[in-house]
Amino acid sequence: MTSINSSLLAFLNASPTPFHATQELARLLESAGFNELDETQAWHLQPGQGYYATRAGSSLIAFIYGEDGLQNGIRVLGAHTDSPCLKLKPQPEWHQQGYQQFGVEVYGGVLLYPWFDRDLSLAGAVSWLDENRKLQQSLVNFEKPMAVIPSLAIHLNREANRGGNLNPEQHMRPLWLQSSERMDFREYLQAYLQERLDDKSGSVTKVMDFNLSFYDTQPAALIGENQEFIASARLDNLLSCYVGAAVLAKADRRYSSMLICNDHEEVGSRSDIGAQGSLLSDVLERLEPGSAERQQILRASMLLSVDNAHGIHPNYQDKHEKNHGPLLNAGPVLKFNANQSYATASDTAALVRLLAESGDAIPLQAFAVRADMACGSTIGPLTAARTGIRTLDLGVPTFAMHSIRELGGAQDSDYLCDLLSRFLARADCQ
Ligand SMILES: [Zn+2]
Repeated sequence: MTSINSSLLAFLNASPTPFHATQELARLLESAGFNELDETQAWHLQPGQGYYATRAGSSLIAFIYGEDGLQNGIRVLGAHTDSPCLKLKPQPEWHQQGYQQFGVEVYGGVLLYPWFDRDLSLAGAVSWLDENRKLQQSLVNFEKPMAVIPSLAIHLNREANRGGNLNPEQHMRPLWLQSSERMDFREYLQAYLQERLDDKSGSVTKVMDFNLSFYDTQPAALIGENQEFIASARLDNLLSCYVGAAVLAKADRRYSSMLICNDHEEVGSRSDIGAQGSLLSDVLERLEPGSAERQQILRASMLLSVDNAHGIHPNYQDKHEKNHGPLLNAGPVLKFNANQSYATASDTAALVRLLAESGDAIPLQAFAVRADMACGSTIGPLTAARTGIRTLDLGVPTFAMHSIRELGGAQDSDYLCDLLSRFLARADCQ
């Protein structure tokens, strides 16, 4: 078995934002023969074919319309394309003492401390006006390290190692340049875009708006004495998106399978492209317009909601209950929560346990939060509630979730890949 990790690392490096991740996922599926669909057009689907559609450039749904039809259910994989980060404000220019900085909004639950002293770059989507006054959108990735958030010297803050005095408005503005002249960011962006457009694309008359976020230019890497760890930004949850797409690309075309990767999970999923939006239900309605027939299909279907779990940290062992402390490189984690922050049920867990022991055993672990701590959540319960599909939440264990550099286990991505492949290769979801 070859490992998925080298292509996973390349994907992580090519995907600094949900827009880039969606583009890379689409590319992967295209190369496996999937056809792009347009939500503004009628669809003419052929059994045995793969398709995908994107929404707003940052959410993606892909599926195989199985040769055997839909009546044995759809094997659905779910994940999310977004990660906590610092996003540029609409009017980002900040000038102080001859320095120019960027004003940022904190997107999602960012672990802020690791963002200091990193070589940051900027990427995302830009909407611009061409010479015919038509709106165009382009993805940009500056790639070069162009900004940094310097930390305050310990001598000036003796309390720094005690934490707790970080103001996200005051202290997180990346430093961009030093000049007596003020740089207008939109003009800078316009010049950058113009330089990169080919002759056919015409000229950029004006930058109208943008969705840009900062990222660490340090590439993803296998680290540890035996390269047993994956260190990267956005492992939550691009690891799951990538493994899901890689598995779907190779899935048996007899069976109906699906992958949905939503944006906006980190901010509650309530948007047209989030898991509380209509993307999945709209596509399901296109697949089976009859409401009674669709209900039958949905009840025969199953969703594996794939999102990372918290491994038990050797320096913070008390944050886990000892029977539910997942280890890195010890297999995917089934996530349980009696209060339904995770959608895993005993019957869906039983099916996944059966998949794991069919063939070469894939190790599995279980997580339930300490009874005296709050539980995280993900797209699983939202999607289950919206569609009525039986669901299970699982994911690889990681450390440092929502840091600018998270840590996973190098074997777990391969275990996850095997497990998801077995799910898509199953003739039914019962
Ligand atoms: Zn996540």
